[in-house]
Amino acid sequence: MSDFVDISLPVPLRRAFTYRVPEGASYALGARVAVPFHRRKLAGFVVGHRDAPPEGVERVFRVAGPLEREPVFPAELLAFLDEAARYYLHPLGEVLRAAAPALPKGAMKRLREGGFLEEGEALPGRAVATILELFAHRTEALPEKRLGSRQKEALALLDERRELALGELRDRIGPSARNVLKALAKRGLVELEEREILKDPFFGKPIERDAPPELNEAQRVAVERMRGALEAEEPASFLLHGVTGSGKTEVYLHVIESARQRGRGALLLVPEIALTPQLVSRFRARFGDGIAVLHSALGERERDEAWRRLRRGELTLAVGARSALFAPVPNLGVIVVDEEHDPSFKQEEGFRYHARDMALLRAHRAGAVCILGSATPSVESFRGAEEGRLELLSLPERATSQRLPEVEVVDLRRHRHGPSGHHLITGPLHQGIEAALEAGEQCILFLNRRGFAPSQRCGSCGAAVECPSCSVALTEHRAVGELRCHYCDFRRPPPARCPTCGAADLAPLGLGTEQLEQTLAELFSPARVARLDRDTATGKTVEAVLDRLRQGEVDILVGTQMVTKGHDLPGVTLVGVILADQSLAFPDFRAGERTFQLLAQVAGRAGRGERPGRVCFQTFQPDHPAIRAAAAHDYERFYMAELAERRELGYPPFGRMVAVRADGVDEQRTRRVLEELASIARRHPGLRDGTLSIQGPAPAPIARLRNRWRFRFLLRGERKPLRQVAAALAARIDEGLGPVRASVDVDPVSML
Ligand code: ADP
Ligand code: ZN
Repeated sequence: MSDFVDISLPVPLRRAFTYRVPEGASYALGARVAVPFHRRKLAGFVVGHRDAPPEGVERVFRVAGPLEREPVFPAELLAFLDEAARYYLHPLGEVLRAAAPALPKGAMKRLREGGFLEEGEALPGRAVATILELFAHRTEALPEKRLGSRQKEALALLDERRELALGELRDRIGPSARNVLKALAKRGLVELEEREILKDPFFGKPIERDAPPELNEAQRVAVERMRGALEAEEPASFLLHGVTGSGKTEVYLHVIESARQRGRGALLLVPEIALTPQLVSRFRARFGDGIAVLHSALGERERDEAWRRLRRGELTLAVGARSALFAPVPNLGVIVVDEEHDPSFKQEEGFRYHARDMALLRAHRAGAVCILGSATPSVESFRGAEEGRLELLSLPERATSQRLPEVEVVDLRRHRHGPSGHHLITGPLHQGIEAALEAGEQCILFLNRRGFAPSQRCGSCGAAVECPSCSVALTEHRAVGELRCHYCDFRRPPPARCPTCGAADLAPLGLGTEQLEQTLAELFSPARVARLDRDTATGKTVEAVLDRLRQGEVDILVGTQMVTKGHDLPGVTLVGVILADQSLAFPDFRAGERTFQLLAQVAGRAGRGERPGRVCFQTFQPDHPAIRAAAAHDYERFYMAELAERRELGYPPFGRMVAVRADGVDEQRTRRVLEELASIARRHPGLRDGTLSIQGPAPAPIARLRNRWRFRFLLRGERKPLRQVAAALAARIDEGLGPVRASVDVDPVSML
């Protein structure tokens, strides 16, 4: 038993601190303990054991006590996080804090009150994350006399399915749900049963178990290759490139099933768990309820409970967004990154990591199989396949009999407006919608801008109404009578006069989803129009809107990129993109890639059922390569063009990139700090011999955000010298920059 432990603390310092282990105690690697630190008490993690303090250390304090019964991080995870911290040049203590579930409430309180836990005293046991839920089951049909309308509704629901949870009925008919069920039970029409369920929106409804379908040839080849790697117990990384609807999910399910049969755990990462209720349902249908679903709607306690059950091996499959990468899945056999191209896998503040890249690392270290799946792989991943770092497996056709939809590119310079007179609903789109509605089919219209209008502009001076804290225009949200900042959430009533020149001449400029929804409802009345964007959809409601669509209660769905995600909506035959070149204007070298991905993904929502799909891209740039390639469903064409451009300009995957950013309240001071950092970078010989290049310093495209001025520079070049510069910059940042914040972002995604 060692007398000393090294503790990693959540402070911006790249070293651990040695503490003495109290008499009779011992702490495992990965355990969370309380320690004194500069008169404060901090929670830290045990990252090493030693017999004596390091040389030169004079005073060593004692660990105050353990904060939890079991170590938070198993050894595999701890070692992986250590490597991730090094890769991103981020202090390990902050990485561990970001990866761990939040500290239990009781522990924090005790720390604040100054009363450490006594040696060996565990925290009081916390309640299990289950609640009692009432389930109703239909009994044999009895004559139904004089039932109230709510009772009838409940029975009708029950006739559709095996059982009905009280919570679900309450969502439909309100607080009387419990009494309704009780009354039905009294009459002998239903039986009630109380069961413990996980308090979790994804487990509200019971689900029918399904049987795996017969795999098609391409799926079989892919599954066999991956299974082979699993059996060899060697790490292996795959890129599963399958067109939309080609059955990638089915491949994941099969490989995960094989891993489970071999007693190995699995991790599935998805871009945004709230947008993928269908995917979670498919996993539950295959594997039952033994899945840890990690998502932001989970309370701390539920998250902690899921974490605990994984660590104990009670659960062996975890599903979640980016941060589920850190789930303590036991004996990891497979990591799947679904929609690997999605930018949301990149964490953009604090510990800035890319969950896709780190999934490859974690799987490799654990001897696991890593599967990156996408219909539109990132340029980096496809290049990785070309270079042999990933093994490419393709699903070139849709799994069902349908072919990919026809795409019509509508030139907005020539088709100014259709019969409606609205300039962004051209003739071809208008007729397409009409035809779909007449045939009783559904439409999805994609516009990546929420609100009524993206700005309010003055007709006299031309200025837009801006956010007082950010250098962006306020978006009009007419339904709630407000202008809002989409970056800091500032809200105000629309001004009567222009804040710049005082003229009473303000008018909305541009089109947002709220206005589009309203316009379509008027133009195509009595068609039923619904909207899916951050304003209408939170957590559960996404599922509700998609359910309504599936049940044929909606004819036209309008939405932001939320509608482009992998939904399987068989009734949708027409997809319209209102402004296909919208995302091309971004000041970002990946703008073309992002546009191609959005367009290919949204087009993939059309024609997934019995009837063939049609797609309409409206654009001012009909000849842009990204738009042309998406219209032709031609990934390789896009890739080749994009790769040539990246090679010429030296952007990833040719050379690496690091973004250095600074922000502060004082504009000049912030600029000076970033200049200083840039001068440190310029001292590296790589900037003279051409192995490295620097772009900036310059104001960020959004120059001011939440009252802070933002500057940045980009470093590009070869991996090794780039890392040397980045490390020197990180060290300077650690020394402190006064009120200015700065960060080093390795492999940056956001250019804003
Ligand atoms: P992707 O994840 O590639 O978009 P999905 O896995 O959602 O594709 O599959 C698309 C549709 O095809 C789903 O409805 C799925 O149930 C069905 N499907 C997938 N594989 C098969 C198969 N081998 N046989 C029949 N149907 C399949
Ligand atoms: Zn703002």
